[in-house]
Amino acid sequence: MSELLRIENLHVSVGEKELLHGLDLTVRAGEVHVIMGVNGAGKSTLLHAIMGNPAYTVTEGRIWFEGQDITELSTDKRARLGLFLSFQAPISVAGISMENFIRTAKTAVSGQQQRLFPFKRLLKARLQDLAMDPSYAERYLNDGFSGGERKKSEILQMRILDPKLAMLDETDSGLDVDAVRIVSKNISDFHNETNAVILITHLNQILKFIRPDHVHILIGGRIVKEGGPELVDEVEANGFDAYRSLAGEA
Ligand code: ADP
Ligand code: MG
Repeated sequence: MSELLRIENLHVSVGEKELLHGLDLTVRAGEVHVIMGVNGAGKSTLLHAIMGNPAYTVTEGRIWFEGQDITELSTDKRARLGLFLSFQAPISVAGISMENFIRTAKTAVSGQQQRLFPFKRLLKARLQDLAMDPSYAERYLNDGFSGGERKKSEILQMRILDPKLAMLDETDSGLDVDAVRIVSKNISDFHNETNAVILITHLNQILKFIRPDHVHILIGGRIVKEGGPELVDEVEANGFDAYRSLAGEA
């Protein structure tokens, strides 16, 4: 399988504080990776650094995407290469409809003008996949949306932008059981042999629907253990205590 993302010795700081202390991660097309870890471990930091959020400074190490060094690349250029990040806490934007927002984003990312009516049809179909009413297309982006609806709106963007690497930060948090099932189905329908998914999750509910190929446990800004899906059960059964000592935190 071809390599999409490669990270070597990644150190990331916010201001003076180093949050990630030398991470390595390789993601190939066709794979699903799960990152688990205690609160404040640096999981969101990792995804923001991969996406190029300027608040997070890479002080050492490199990030490659499809063989290209993207360590210094701006976020919009990374998006055009096919990276996508769904935020842990999606913001709302009053004054811009979902339809306009996603159509503009799709035009920017694909470099192709999105014709109005075909785009409307696509949006309607994708809303239906998420069990969202078609009227959401006209609503301002996430404005007045419940926590669960915001998460669905992120998945809607993912499906329409169709990235090569989708990074989903606690997309399952705050979803009821039906919504978890629907969101999981959408992630499964999106995922194929040419793209990859990195999921951050605290729940193994979503992992009943999406089977990870690789699981990484991140504690104290370091990946302290890696394995297959069996690690999810191990964490579920024993918590993170055993891994804290590996991170030198115990
Ligand atoms: P996780 O997603 O694993 O819960 P985060 O990556 O959000 O953890 O945060 C890791 C640590 O870095 C936390 O202690 C958090 O407070 C800190 N941190 C994250 N982002 C910032 C920021 N923009 N400014 C200051 N501190 C931050
Ligand atoms: Mg987080």
